[in-house]
Amino acid sequence: MAKINLLAPHEARKIAAGEVVERPSNIIKELVENAIDAGATSITLYLEEAGKKLIRLVDNGSGMDQQDARTCFQPHATSKITQLDDLETIVTFGFRGEALASIAAVSNVTLVTKIAGSDEQSLATRVTYTEDRLLDQQAVAGHVGTDISIQDLFYNTPARKKFLKQDETEWNVVQQTMYAFCLSNLNVNFKLFHNSKMMLNAPAVTTLKDRAAQIWGTDIAANLIPCAGDDRFFAVNGCISHHQFWRYGKTHLFFFVNNRWVKNSEFGKALLKGYLNVLPRDRFPAGIIFITVDSREIDVNIHPKKEEVKVSKPGVLTSLITQCIRETLDARVDTLGQVSKPLESFETLAGTKAPTSFIRTSGGQEQFAGNLSDYMTSLTHVGTQPPLILSLSKDGLVGSKGMGQGQSLALQNPLTLSPSKGMSATKQVSATTILGQLFNTYILVQKEHELIMVDQHAAHERVLYEKYTEYFDASHGTLLLFPEVVTLTKELVDAILPWQEFFGKQGIQFDALGSRELALRSAPPQLRGPSLRDLITDAAHFVLEHGTLDRTLLTTRFNEHVHSHMACKAAVKAGDVLTQEQMRQLLDDLLLVSNRFICVHGRPTMWTISQQDIEKHFRR
Ligand code: ADP
Ligand code: MG
Repeated sequence: MAKINLLAPHEARKIAAGEVVERPSNIIKELVENAIDAGATSITLYLEEAGKKLIRLVDNGSGMDQQDARTCFQPHATSKITQLDDLETIVTFGFRGEALASIAAVSNVTLVTKIAGSDEQSLATRVTYTEDRLLDQQAVAGHVGTDISIQDLFYNTPARKKFLKQDETEWNVVQQTMYAFCLSNLNVNFKLFHNSKMMLNAPAVTTLKDRAAQIWGTDIAANLIPCAGDDRFFAVNGCISHHQFWRYGKTHLFFFVNNRWVKNSEFGKALLKGYLNVLPRDRFPAGIIFITVDSREIDVNIHPKKEEVKVSKPGVLTSLITQCIRETLDARVDTLGQVSKPLESFETLAGTKAPTSFIRTSGGQEQFAGNLSDYMTSLTHVGTQPPLILSLSKDGLVGSKGMGQGQSLALQNPLTLSPSKGMSATKQVSATTILGQLFNTYILVQKEHELIMVDQHAAHERVLYEKYTEYFDASHGTLLLFPEVVTLTKELVDAILPWQEFFGKQGIQFDALGSRELALRSAPPQLRGPSLRDLITDAAHFVLEHGTLDRTLLTTRFNEHVHSHMACKAAVKAGDVLTQEQMRQLLDDLLLVSNRFICVHGRPTMWTISQQDIEKHFRR
């Protein structure tokens, strides 16, 4: 007997519907896209029980005539495409002609619509659909535009209904979807009601920042800075948060390709890469990024819900995103300015008078030739010596010079300023003043209209970390007269032995001494005794724990780990008294390192408080 049965069309449609409609937010997305395609400038969404009970969308778009009000529910009914070629260049959102048919297959639908251009007195059309069948069609009073209600979602597909999450979860997804539409359609007035409560009213605006303020509040919007960049294939623009802002999740990250909201984890990764070492690990920025590309270079049809896109040359695009973020952050976050030196003297320092602790190699690179205690000594005896320049990477130098142009900063001695002069000094555009040390822990700096508090330990740690990363990779360390012996477990010894070569490059050489001990034969000058043994023990634990990571990633992490350990041990501590010169030195050094806003443990190195914030506090 034959085993193959053909499914009845409406059964087949129920199954197909699952591709487009999984949860309320999918329906909402289709309905809002239709409204936008119809030219609506006002879109209002009413939900009950996060959309499980009711989704109603009212728009003031072009509406439909009597006949279209019926045909729009037919499978493959679309006014947006007539042949496959159109798919390549189509600019509207919907183009599959399946959304309404799919939705009607799994819910009860009522549509009231009136076509634009019809006279005031004329009636709207109301159609009701259930189980794929037209139940009723009537002429009713109504406004131009479309008012569509989806009730009892999945009433006829209990298996799907079971997969719906709790209202709160579904609501969160709906909210994100609506935010995405708000962010990419500034000219539309969006309103959102949930269980009869108004949750959002966002009238049309002209800037992205204003939109962000409507949906997240002005506090968050105030942390956004514009970003833009382009190359031959792609253009990127939008807003990102600066280094002092972060969230625990990715809820404030949105990407759009040709104004279509997409979820592409590669874009997210590229953006986060731009924040590497700026934000602590597992913290996330806000970012609303619009990518523009010739529509022939993308395929939006790889996903039934059109949530993903495939771009040709993805690598070019992700590098562009990362670069754009880095440049934006760098340009913006040079809050410290150049603390003590005008540009000319900076050039002299960087060029002819190389600081004593560095030697220039034939390749023009500077090498750290002193040891840490030299460095610390120099911090305490800076006096007439030229300041040390740490981490003179090409980028750092170029970046600082570019920034310094036109804003040569003068160091002012706060002690010589009378209060009235002090007041006028705030009006001097580029003045930077070290006010002093607070609690022997923070350096207070005034720059233009900002008060900057620098955490001396965190800042120094960062400076040293960058220095180690840059200089110790090529260092050989010094041979120890008597090898240090470290006792570990067999497991730890086995874990760390494959890393001999890596450590060799850090100036640390060791061999196994039996199955539970290591003999350390060389180390960088500032690491001796307990802190050296500590470092190795800690490193062994680290590789044991992270041994499953991909090798390059592990190397990077491990490098970070070893260097941050070294930096932490060597940095000035909270409670250390610093002289004015030392503070200035530290700030200068900090200015030259690339990741100056966050210490190696992810804590901020500085906190900027604007004059405005202070005035707000005092209600001036
Ligand atoms: P698609 O959007 O892919 O064309 P849909 O099933 O979403 O397919 O919609 C079918 C058709 O119904 C659309 O092409 C459009 O002509 C019409 N339509 C749907 N929603 C609206 C609306 N809100 N306003 C005006 N016309 C609409
Ligand atoms: Mg559509």
